[in-house]
Amino acid sequence: MKTDIQIAQEARMLNIFQIANQLGLSDDDIEAYGKYKAKIDLNVLKKFEGKKDGKLVLVTAITPTPAGEGKSTVTVGLTQAINKLGYLSVAALREPSLGPVFGIKGGATGGGYSQVIPMEDINLHFTGDLHAIGAAHNLIAACIDNHLHSGNLLNIDINKITWKRCVDMNDRALRNVVIGLGGKANGIPRESSFQITVASEIMAALCLATSLIDLKQKIGNMIFAYDTTGKPLKISDLKIEGAATALLKEAIKPNLVQTLENTPVLIHGGPFANIAHGCNSILATKMALKLSDYTITEAGFAADLGAEKFLDIKCRKGNITPNCIVVVATIRALKHHGGAKELATENVEALKKGISNLDKHVENMKKYNVPVVVAINKFITDTDMEVNFIKEHCDRLNIPVALCEVWEKGGQGGEELAKLVLKELGSEKDNYKPLYPLNMSIEDKIKTICKEIYGASGVEFGKNAKKMLSTIKELNYGDLPVCISKTQKSLSDDPKLLGRPENFIVTINELRISAGAGFIVAMAGDIIDMPGLPKKPAAELIDIDENGKIEGLF
Ligand code: ADP
Repeated sequence: MKTDIQIAQEARMLNIFQIANQLGLSDDDIEAYGKYKAKIDLNVLKKFEGKKDGKLVLVTAITPTPAGEGKSTVTVGLTQAINKLGYLSVAALREPSLGPVFGIKGGATGGGYSQVIPMEDINLHFTGDLHAIGAAHNLIAACIDNHLHSGNLLNIDINKITWKRCVDMNDRALRNVVIGLGGKANGIPRESSFQITVASEIMAALCLATSLIDLKQKIGNMIFAYDTTGKPLKISDLKIEGAATALLKEAIKPNLVQTLENTPVLIHGGPFANIAHGCNSILATKMALKLSDYTITEAGFAADLGAEKFLDIKCRKGNITPNCIVVVATIRALKHHGGAKELATENVEALKKGISNLDKHVENMKKYNVPVVVAINKFITDTDMEVNFIKEHCDRLNIPVALCEVWEKGGQGGEELAKLVLKELGSEKDNYKPLYPLNMSIEDKIKTICKEIYGASGVEFGKNAKKMLSTIKELNYGDLPVCISKTQKSLSDDPKLLGRPENFIVTINELRISAGAGFIVAMAGDIIDMPGLPKKPAAELIDIDENGKIEGLF
């Protein structure tokens, strides 16, 4: 069997200007980065202002196994399939981070015959957006320490600096560091830490910004520390929001690439789906909606994390309305939720137990008043009996379901799903409403998500979180949406609880104000914003030959 990278390298790519032309873009609307990648000018949004938006489909998933359940693969496959049916469909995806590429998961450009290409470039550096975000973030860090060194006029409390440094790499040794060592000329010694670039608030803000000026305002509003009286200090107090935004002038433009079947894809931004909202940029989604009939987008991790945030944060901030939600399920993950250890052998009993996880995610998505369909992402080890079990289960519950073979067959393998999605879109049953109103208290917003989406019986707030609840109120941030940072391995806050956990209490230890991105992060458990590499990192498999041909990326 061919690997993802082999399939990708055999593809015949079209010049990026040809892909742009498919979208009705002129050569002046894009700036090519080589032959197969381009940045799209933000003026395109103005140029197509009068054009009606196409329909928006969100692809999300059940609670995954660590390898991922194929959201990107199904997103790419579905867009290929809809194009095959004669409509213009664009996928809007997140940008990969080098952390997972060299860690456990590998790249994020789909898989099998449903991939985005050139996959090596997209997975490694791409058009430099993540580096630009890192530079903007670290400029701010450098200015904070320079301010301390130069007399600390803002009275920054050295123990309450919340701004970290960042790097786009899984590097556990940087989780806790001491900086400013070496004497007076080298800064003020203090403890600090690094986060992975995708966890930076700059990344979240870039993805939620609607223009360059909006991004500058968001960066200016970010809280980087508290002063000795407890007052929050913002980046605008350092007067560097303009400089940080200047570093992002190209990064804010969506990137254009293509699928294996030469259909257009926008890839832009990639915030973490736990301490941030886990979706590609609002600008890319809005552009895709203007330029195509059907935009297929995805949100990180399972539906309790990425989709909830897509629906309650991104859609609201971007004034975007989803028209259909696809929940990707795999037989192997459902068997895992049913307690099976061996996932490649037939086990309908485990499937029967584990399917409660799918049921809960579907019920959750229905709460947003948007049609929901299930896509069974077929692995070659899945048996007919297992597939039929899920289909019959969904039929009984009146949930539209399709078998999806896009990994094995590309767009052609997604025809059943594409037809089902188009049928749901045609039914005009969508009447999107978010889960909670913004004027609800932060405490109640958190309780609503935990009870309605996770299935918790209650929520406990730790001492620090309680204190922060009143601080948030005093500082007038109570109207922001909440972004719960929680394990992706369970619907609950305990990674060991599989399936559909019940009778559990979610504990919120800490709250953080992401005043620039515009949400309150509620930490349910210890979530690491700087992952580590596994014992045998994927980096050991990657190689390059004298012609620059890369192998081992997956
Ligand atoms: P997610 O977006 O949910 O994280 P991806 O689409 O990135 O998941 O897929 C994760 C990995 O699983 C990729 O390496 C991909 O090639 C592989 N994969 C996805 N679907 C299938 C499938 N049906 N059969 C075999 N491998 C698959």
